[in-house]
Amino acid sequence: PRLEFEVFTIFPEIIEAFVGAGLMAKAQERDLVRVHTTNFRDFTSDKHRTVDDTPFGGGAGMVIKPEPVVAALESVEAERGPMHRVLLTPSGPRFDQRAAERLARKPRIALLCGRYEGIDDRVREGWVDECLSIGDFVLNGGEVAAAVLIEAVARLRAGVLGNPDSIAHESFAAPEPELESESELGPASPFLGGQVLEHPHYTRPPSFRDRGVPPVLLAGDHGKIEAWRRRLACLRTWALRPQLRPKPPLPPELPRLLAA
Ligand code: SAM
Repeated sequence: PRLEFEVFTIFPEIIEAFVGAGLMAKAQERDLVRVHTTNFRDFTSDKHRTVDDTPFGGGAGMVIKPEPVVAALESVEAERGPMHRVLLTPSGPRFDQRAAERLARKPRIALLCGRYEGIDDRVREGWVDECLSIGDFVLNGGEVAAAVLIEAVARLRAGVLGNPDSIAHESFAAPEPELESESELGPASPFLGGQVLEHPHYTRPPSFRDRGVPPVLLAGDHGKIEAWRRRLACLRTWALRPQLRPKPPLPPELPRLLAA
């Protein structure tokens, strides 16, 4: 099934450049993903195609008017069908891998990109299913945030990546049900939400400017390699994502996960 994104913006060229390259371009050629853009300016009625106005109550900056935004949403839905409507805003809940997995199950996703001080808040009240932020910082517009979300969601869809195996073992991947009990890859992650950072990766040459590769990776013992990868995944998660550490008492399987 094809995944469709509808991006609403005053800068469609940013989105078009982004989806015109790499795996996103390939996914569209193969009709796995489709990305439409709609310009709010095409839904204005004055000759300057004005989308913004001064804020009620005063203050710096301009606000995107609600009329062109809602007219654009309604026109696209009438033409191409209903969508799950997402407003990109720094005040939304944080977009993360769980949100990407959830959105990857939706057939059609609308992404509303603000500019200036943002979009008139009545749009969020009445015409939006959820708000999302890509982090606690402020961008000039929602387009780069939309690109982040499109890329993270699209790569979870079957066929978009060459090798589907690369998804399952990545950082933050939720544990697969069949890994919850003992399996080749060991027990499930002891970290919160079953999340874990991935182990480090190396490729040729085996020595680069006097820096070698961990010898276990060159020795060809796959059991030892798996154990090393598990250990490094745990150590990196513990050190680099303290907020994912399990609450005391320590999970009983931890020593076994860390053992060589
Ligand atoms: N006045 C807003 C505030 O302080 O929350 C910031 C508006 S920002 C300059 C303009 C637009 O960029 C927003 O409407 C939103 O669409 C987008 N944007 C900025 N930072 C973002 C973030 N961290 N995540 C998602 N969208 C963001």
